[in-house]
Amino acid sequence: VDRDDDGRLRLFTPGPVDLSGAARRGLARDIIHHRSTAFERLLSDLEECLKALFLTTGRVATLTSSGTGAMEAAVVSLFSPGERVIVPVSGKFSARWAEICDANGIEVRRIDLKPGEAADPADVVGHIEAAGSAAGVLLTQCETSTGSLTDVPAVCAAMDEMGKRRGGRPLTCVDCVTSLAIDEFRMDDWHVDCAIGASQKGMLGPPGLAFVAANAAAVARMARVSGPRYYFDLRKYFDDTTRPPFTPAVPLVSSVRESIQGLLDLGLPALWRAYRASAAAIRLMIESAGLRPVAASQAGGVVAFWLDGLDAESIARDLLERHGIVVAQGQGGLRGKILRVSAMGKGPADIRRLAGALVSVVGDMGRSIRLEEMESRLEQLLEDTSIWESLP
Ligand SMILES: *Cc1c(COP(=O)(O)O)cnc(C)c1O
Repeated sequence: VDRDDDGRLRLFTPGPVDLSGAARRGLARDIIHHRSTAFERLLSDLEECLKALFLTTGRVATLTSSGTGAMEAAVVSLFSPGERVIVPVSGKFSARWAEICDANGIEVRRIDLKPGEAADPADVVGHIEAAGSAAGVLLTQCETSTGSLTDVPAVCAAMDEMGKRRGGRPLTCVDCVTSLAIDEFRMDDWHVDCAIGASQKGMLGPPGLAFVAANAAAVARMARVSGPRYYFDLRKYFDDTTRPPFTPAVPLVSSVRESIQGLLDLGLPALWRAYRASAAAIRLMIESAGLRPVAASQAGGVVAFWLDGLDAESIARDLLERHGIVVAQGQGGLRGKILRVSAMGKGPADIRRLAGALVSVVGDMGRSIRLEEMESRLEQLLEDTSIWESLP
């Protein structure tokens, strides 16, 4: 196996991802008691970092759960059973919004899209109007099962426009789990009411924490909702975001705070540019092998591509066994048909390593990637990813 000098496997999966150095150091700290001023300060520092990531002046609650827990917390805290929501569904994660609503007795109007498609703003508004009314629209900024990026600002603008005509609009809730700190996201500027994040993706932290950002309208709505909820009752968390209602995963809080601080120091626009470049570099390689990407509008955090008859299982196995590179298979109905590669936190050296591995593995299957023919373009793109070399 052609491992790196350190012998570690490299995770090119869309979560969990390789930890940043800061995240690893943060994990090693002593436990602070969660009912102490030191912990309150830590949680409040984390919230400031999260506000800077979500680009909001609203509040951000930290939950000890995976990202799905934060999605469920948002659903049960923002909508009452019997209320109606609109969910564009184009893959496994956007479908999860619909499943969580179904499980909690909230009426779902699905907008069914094909894999790789993204919600169309006019279509979303059309569905709200056809339904008569809706309490919420649940979006997925990056559909991690296909790498498709939803144009969140365009959907929000169309909803605002409709809201002016009709004297109000549904609440917008966005799953940013694989787009936060990856693709441009501006919660306040775009008028997003509620947004979800998780520790193990763009934050380059360990799995286990999830985040709900909410503006004043969303927090006010939480008081009026009627369904059953307890651990995931967000009122408990938003009462005072620095005093957690239950024992949080303390070591993860230090870890994620330090990791996000490192990312913020690099600058969000530089991060967004680096991810556009790494996704473009991966697309360049796979397209030169004659393979097609799944997403029409490409997100920064994951590139999925159709295998066009190549064997998913053996490509993934060869990448792992011969090159120490872990990639993700397709999920559900896409298993065996696509592979998914993520360059979260990966700079030029790692992407070169991926390129070399792909050339060899895909080459063995009779598809050639001629790196030398794309060298100048690749060089240019990788230049933008060199910011990762200065991550602490
Ligand atoms: C990873 C992910 C989640 C959360 O998944 P968990 O396994 O519950 O952390 C939610 N939405 C998207 C788009 C994701 O990629």
